[in-house]
Amino acid sequence: MNPAANANLFSRLFDGLDDPKRLAIETHDGGHISYGDLIARAGQMANVLVARGVKPGDRVAVQVEKSVANIVLYLASVRAGAVYLPLNTAYTLNELDYFIGDAEPSLVVCDPAKAEGLAPIAAKVSAKVETLGPDGKGSLTDAADKASGEFTTVPRANDDLAAILYTSGTTGRSKGAMLSHDNLASNSLSLVDYWRFTDKDVLIHALPIYHTHGLFVATNVTLFARASMIFLPKLDPDLIIKLMARATVLMGVPTFYTRLLQNPALSHETAKHMRLFVSGSAPLLAETHREWSARTGHAVLERYGMTETNMNTSNPYDGERVPGAVGFPLPGVSVRVTEPETGKELPRDEIGMIEVKGPNVFRGYWRMPEKTKAELRPDGFFITGDLGKIDAKGYVHILGRGKDLVISGGFNVYPKEIESEIDAMPGVIESAVIGVPHADFGEGVTAVLVRQPGASIDEAAVLKGLDGRLAKFKMPKRVFVVDELPRNTMGKVQKNVLRETYKDIYAKK
Ligand code: AMP
Repeated sequence: MNPAANANLFSRLFDGLDDPKRLAIETHDGGHISYGDLIARAGQMANVLVARGVKPGDRVAVQVEKSVANIVLYLASVRAGAVYLPLNTAYTLNELDYFIGDAEPSLVVCDPAKAEGLAPIAAKVSAKVETLGPDGKGSLTDAADKASGEFTTVPRANDDLAAILYTSGTTGRSKGAMLSHDNLASNSLSLVDYWRFTDKDVLIHALPIYHTHGLFVATNVTLFARASMIFLPKLDPDLIIKLMARATVLMGVPTFYTRLLQNPALSHETAKHMRLFVSGSAPLLAETHREWSARTGHAVLERYGMTETNMNTSNPYDGERVPGAVGFPLPGVSVRVTEPETGKELPRDEIGMIEVKGPNVFRGYWRMPEKTKAELRPDGFFITGDLGKIDAKGYVHILGRGKDLVISGGFNVYPKEIESEIDAMPGVIESAVIGVPHADFGEGVTAVLVRQPGASIDEAAVLKGLDGRLAKFKMPKRVFVVDELPRNTMGKVQKNVLRETYKDIYAKK
């Protein structure tokens, strides 16, 4: 076999498929799509892409709701040698103008309702526009229905691009992370092994598919294993608990687990058919981990990854899954902790910058060679921007984004350390610690917390509880109680929003 052809993710996913009738995707409204259907539909769609002028290496920008047709579009783009570029469905036309101008796709696929607004934006980069609605209908599927399902997968080399995913960009412009065929294939294959996926698995898929978690971790892992997935448009706790009776795996962000815990139907009994619960994309509170074990008898398996690197670490399948830790580097991935300024490697248990290297690490930021260079060490390690440590047993712990570090009176304050203390207090659900401009200290340590319904814990009680447990420089200067913390769609707490909200609290009057 031609080794170049083999490196196309599509070939690696489907070459050697033994049973085309095997179920790949089941939809919430009763649709059943087999592996054979998926391949044939990807062939039809790839023929349409080529007919619309999409050439190998061209970007196909996609702002479409989650649907099987959207997965087919992803597979078809990869199969045609193009670069799939999913965009968060919440982005407005103003935001799309930036992404499309930056990526210069040759084709833009959008919801029929957005086609008119997008046309002038696409025209600026001479991109064609096709439509695809949440029901899987649109000009693209109309054309695909009439096209042949035969398509010769375009040969690609390991380092050729398969996808570009823009980072969520909470500071500055969002950057396009370039992911190669081998980045995606190698990481998914490693996860299949690590998490013991087999063709008997049934995954409950309730994540969005414009993000690495739902698109690559959930979808590619399922397809590589010849397992099947039940596609849900969004998180629906009642339905998920019902589906657990015949599913085996759930992948979610931490919000999934806190929302499911609020549902009285969740129990050992309702979760007994399941074999694995995976959490990632944001920190899972140690408390949530413990509550989940008590309620269901399953220890959530927490893993750590990012758009630029796919998955880096995972708690073990067999060994201890430590609450609050993200586990060990995946096979083939190296993780080290360094002094941020010098890049010097730090010993175990010391806090510093997490850096990773391996076949999972992306090919750089689209058209940003300077940014790419700034975030890669000369020996190839990627500077993740996450602060953390590796403990004596080798488990990696994340202590927050580097940019969330608080520097008060010249001392480094790691938010996670204070958050863990506050979270452990009775009556507290969760907390976020931020640095806010302060005339004397540079930044004032500030805590924002959510309390349990009916709890009376307040600023004075928190400060009293922390007194003597934390060094004086780490003590919050103010504590605020709120109804909920601001989060993005992947469940990440938006500390930038909190910093903005509280930016004037220490201003001299
Ligand atoms: P994204 O590129 O949107 O997937 O975001 C990646 C970032 O999410 C990482 O750099 C971490 O800051 C955070 N993250 C992902 N998984 C975890 C986890 N298990 N615990 C804590 N933070 C996480």
